[in-house]
Amino acid sequence: MLRIACPHCGPRDDVEFRYRGDATLARPAADAGVDAFASYVFERDNPAGWHVEWWQHVQGCRRVLKVVRHTLTHEIAAVGEANDELRIPDAGAKS
Ligand SMILES: [Zn+2]
Repeated sequence: MLRIACPHCGPRDDVEFRYRGDATLARPAADAGVDAFASYVFERDNPAGWHVEWWQHVQGCRRVLKVVRHTLTHEIAAVGEANDELRIPDAGAKS
């Protein structure tokens, strides 16, 4: 079980949140072409390590938060607002 420290509500169990996807994706330009949009919509990396993700606090403040989570240990290094620049721990720190 994860404990996510919502900046508005405090630490809560992950059952109150809904995973909303990879927070590192950037929408392609309008003229980028079909292949770029197909990749943006359907293709995802499966990283083993630190990952920046969207989580929505659906049973709390309902805000969408940015979370830095280690995909192997589920350790959470940082939680912030959607527009926050969160620090990602060194790649060698937890791998
Ligand atoms: Zn909250």
